[in-house]
Amino acid sequence: MAQSAQSKNSRTASTTQRFYCSCGGEIKMKTMFENDKVRNVAECEKCKRTERRPSDFA
Ligand SMILES: [Zn+2]
Repeated sequence: MAQSAQSKNSRTASTTQRFYCSCGGEIKMKTMFENDKVRNVAECEKCKRTERRPSDFA
């Protein structure tokens, strides 16, 4: 039981993609509330630039 849970966790971690801003900062996904709607944005944790998707930083 414990073994299967562990392998599931490691698989989740390996599929997590990392994106980096042109400034070198790491992109973090954030959940924003705007006009009563939930919106996901990508934000650079270094320069605080925000884009709709992590790939927009390239
Ligand atoms: Zn940046």
